[in-house]
Amino acid sequence: MLYYNLNNKKERVTFREAVTRGISSDMGLFMPEEIPSPGPDFFKKLPEMELPEIAFTIAGMYIGDEIPYRILKTICDESFNFPVVIKKIGPGKTVLELFHGPTAAFKDFGARFMSRCLGYFTSGDDRKSVVLVATSGDTGGAVADSFAGVDAVDVIILYPSGRISPLQENQLTTHGGNITALEITGTFDDCQQMVRETFTKLDTRNRIRLTSANSINIARLIPQSFYYYYAMSRSESTEPVLSVPSGNFGNLSAAVMAWRSGLKVKHFIASTNVNRVVPEYIRTGKYCPANTVMTIANAMDVGNPGNFVRLAQLFDNDHGKFISKISGYWFDDDRIRNHIWDEYQRSGYILDPHGAVASLGLESYIRDHPGAQGIFTATAHPAKFSEVVEPVIGERLTFPASLDRFLSGKKLSVPMNPGYQYLKEYLTERYHLQ
Ligand SMILES: *Cc1c(COP(=O)(O)O)cnc(C)c1O
Repeated sequence: MLYYNLNNKKERVTFREAVTRGISSDMGLFMPEEIPSPGPDFFKKLPEMELPEIAFTIAGMYIGDEIPYRILKTICDESFNFPVVIKKIGPGKTVLELFHGPTAAFKDFGARFMSRCLGYFTSGDDRKSVVLVATSGDTGGAVADSFAGVDAVDVIILYPSGRISPLQENQLTTHGGNITALEITGTFDDCQQMVRETFTKLDTRNRIRLTSANSINIARLIPQSFYYYYAMSRSESTEPVLSVPSGNFGNLSAAVMAWRSGLKVKHFIASTNVNRVVPEYIRTGKYCPANTVMTIANAMDVGNPGNFVRLAQLFDNDHGKFISKISGYWFDDDRIRNHIWDEYQRSGYILDPHGAVASLGLESYIRDHPGAQGIFTATAHPAKFSEVVEPVIGERLTFPASLDRFLSGKKLSVPMNPGYQYLKEYLTERYHLQ
C-alpha cells in the first residue's frame, strides 16, 4: 500500500516514509491510496475477535510487508493490552469507553501503536529521532507515556499554557528524561502551526530525524479505527449510528475509514463543543477555520482541525456526500455541565466533558430521528476532569490506579512564545543545527 500527499497527489510514499516523516515537505497529509477491505469472512468472525487480533488484521492491510508479520503481531499485542468497555446506559444508547489505557484517554491507542511502529522503523538509525507533538491536552500525555525511557528518542511536547487540566499538565511535565514539555503562551492551533512549520522549514542538516506524533501522522490515525470494528460488531443494533466527540477529527476520520472498508455504520455524528467549524461546514457547505475558544472539553478546543482535509477526502470533497453520512451538533459549556448532571441523575453514569459532548450529539440525533440507536465514544476518564465533573455531580471521583503516579511530581516545562522562530531557535541550539 502506498500513501499519497493530499497537497500533491502525484507524490506517493511507503508507509515507512509516511510514518517517519509525519507530514510531507509542503505540509500535506498522507492518505492511503485506497481503503482496503478485510472481506466478508473477517466481518463474519468479527464478533468473536479480540482487539489485538482485529488490529493485526487491519494493520496488516495498511502496512503490508513493511513490518514483518511477527513483529506487527507483537506491536498489536503490546499496544492494545488494556480493555475496551461497552455499556448500555439508556434506551438506544450505548457508551464505548476508550479510557482504560495507561493515561486514561483514548489517545493511548494511537500513541502506543505509533511509537512502536516508529521504534521499528528507526532502530539502527544513527541519527537521533526527535518526536514533535502539539497537544490540546491528552495526546502529549499518551505520547510521553509510550516513549518515556526510550532513550534513542527525544519527545518534545508543545502545549497551550493554562488551557489544559492540572492532571493533563502533570502527565506532560513530570516525566523528565527524554521527555521535554514546551509551555506555549498561545492556543493549540498555535502549537500545531509551530510543529507543522518546523517540518517544512527547519533544516536539520541530517543531524536529527524529525517526526510528528500528532494525528496528522497516519500511524496514529489507523489504530483509531480498530476499536470501532470491535464495538460495532458487539452492538445490539445491526447498524448503529456513531457519535464521536471531535476536535482535530482524527478519531472520526478513522471511524469513517472503518466504514469505507465495509464496517456497518448507519450514520456518523460529529459532536463538538463551541469550536464548531465542522458542524458549520455541514450546515452551510463552507469550511471556515476560526479562532480557538476555550471550553471545559478542552481536548477538543481546535479552531482549524488538522484532519478535516482527510475527512473531506473520504467523501471525495463533496459536501452532498459528506452530509448524507455525517450530521453535526455542537454544545456550549452550560449544556455540557447540565448533561453530565442529567445523565448522572438518570442512569448513574458519570460522563467526562468530552464524552458528554458525544452523548449529547447522540441524543440530539435520536431526537431528530426517532427510533435510531447508537453508540457514543467516551474518550477520557471523568477523573481526569475532576475539577469540572465533581462540582457538577457533587461527589468525589475515584481515580483509576494508573493515574496515581501523575498526581505528584515536579513540574518541568520550558516557557515559549507562540511562533515558529522560537521553536526553531530552541531546536537549533539543543541539537547544534548550525
Ligand atoms: C483528542 C481528544 C478528543 C478529540 O479527538 P480528535 O481525534 O482530535 O477529534 C476528544 N476527547 C478527548 C478526551 C481527547 O483527548
